[in-house]
Amino acid sequence: MPDAPPPTLRLRLDREALAGNWRALDNLSGSAEAGAAVKADCYGLGIDACLPTLRDAGAKQFFVAHWSEVAAVARHVPPAQISVLHGPLTPADAAYSKACGAVPVINSLEQAQRWLDAGGRRCDLMIDTGINRLGLAPAEIGDPLVGALEVNTLMSHLACADEDVDMNARQLAAFRTLLPLVPHQRASLANSAGIALGREYAFDLTRPGLALYGGVPRDDLAGPIRQVAFPEAAIIQLRDLEAGQTVGYNATFTADAPMRAGVVSIGYADGFLRSWGKGGYLLNGDIRLRLLGKISMDMVVVDLTMAPGLREGDWLSLPYSLPDAARQSALSQYELLTVLGSRLKQA
Ligand SMILES: *Cc1c(COP(=O)(O)O)cnc(C)c1O
Repeated sequence: MPDAPPPTLRLRLDREALAGNWRALDNLSGSAEAGAAVKADCYGLGIDACLPTLRDAGAKQFFVAHWSEVAAVARHVPPAQISVLHGPLTPADAAYSKACGAVPVINSLEQAQRWLDAGGRRCDLMIDTGINRLGLAPAEIGDPLVGALEVNTLMSHLACADEDVDMNARQLAAFRTLLPLVPHQRASLANSAGIALGREYAFDLTRPGLALYGGVPRDDLAGPIRQVAFPEAAIIQLRDLEAGQTVGYNATFTADAPMRAGVVSIGYADGFLRSWGKGGYLLNGDIRLRLLGKISMDMVVVDLTMAPGLREGDWLSLPYSLPDAARQSALSQYELLTVLGSRLKQA
């Protein structure tokens, strides 16, 4: 096949911001080292696009959720630097871990048994201190199976680090009491928001994800964290609407006077979901161009009244400053990143 012609939508990544965000989070982690959560294809932004930047900035510990994610990360870093959060759910997972060298996070006594059965020793261990997701219960850590593991990173995960609630201090205290009970090389508790809770949450290794990619889970991170992802789409047709004409499926917008509209090459299949809804807009520089009618799968129509000079082929930006975008779209900052579709990333 010949090379495809240039696309009409693209995801611009600010790699300096990505590197700067990792360094900022590493600094905020104090004497602890910052790792990087790179699960879900680096939160939707692309392993190949992000991993080299994070590695070159200094990250040495990477977290994925699934075993299927290991190979793509291992193109850029040694497998021993990759931890797999879901752990060995089957003997095949344990065998794969042994064969490739990526490190399992053990989340239950069953997983500990499976890992030991596969001849494994060195691993990470997740202990649940209240989120009740993955991880051993504190009461289980005296089990001889745990004693047989060689724990590199002992970790737990905060449920509410983006909020000022007592649960953060309770989880911190619970984690502290567990540390002397399980021999380990490193302790790790904080995600992005946890880093902003204070140095006492950092221990030896922090695990930022969202904030690397420009998310601001707590206001105190708004200063150091910069936007990384800039989705952009081109105008592919101009239309002059007459008064009374409607736009899009179900004719939900009606022009009340003659007006210029632009059809833009991005839709919900690209992650520009209908929840942007009423009040949604695209940007031409600082000029807001409001959405007209419903978002389609591959297109959306905008009002060009405020930018009458725009032509077919001109590019518009999605308003992807994540804290504002989350308020506007009713999606979480995490969702805003991970919904971005594959067509955006082919540029
Ligand atoms: C996803 C994840 C992280 C990263 O969390 P952010 O809120 O994105 O910083 C850290 N630790 C674990 C166990 C995770 O699942």
